[in-house]
Amino acid sequence: MTMPDCIFCKIVNKELPSDIVYEDDNVIVIKDANPKAPVHFLIIPKKHILSVDHIELEDKALMGDLILTAKKIAKEKNLKGYRLLINVGREGGQVIDHIHLHLLSGNQ
Ligand code: AMP
Ligand code: ZN
Repeated sequence: MTMPDCIFCKIVNKELPSDIVYEDDNVIVIKDANPKAPVHFLIIPKKHILSVDHIELEDKALMGDLILTAKKIAKEKNLKGYRLLINVGREGGQVIDHIHLHLLSGNQ
């Protein structure tokens, strides 16, 4: 489930500090440390999956959870509109090799 040298696994395991917005059995939501919009959250599955390229059929429900969590947080935070973004691979802008959904709002 976890990878020893993965920053997001360490955040999930509370071995590294983060600003946690929401957490349940499968997902954690944190504030992005270097926000690219007035509201910038990262929705992270607790399971270590490297990227969208590494999703398996068994991860289908978990990927749905990420989007439902985004909707829940957006509602809680009263966001009028927002963007959801997943970077895939270095050439797709992915820097951290643990899949995550960016929730961005407030810069349109
Ligand atoms: P990506 O480029 O899609 O892999 O996004 C990685 C995101 O993680 C970037 O927006 C970073 O600002 C953010 N980030 C990196 N390290 C941390 C951290 N320790 N806590 C919170 N956000 C982080
Ligand atoms: Zn990880």
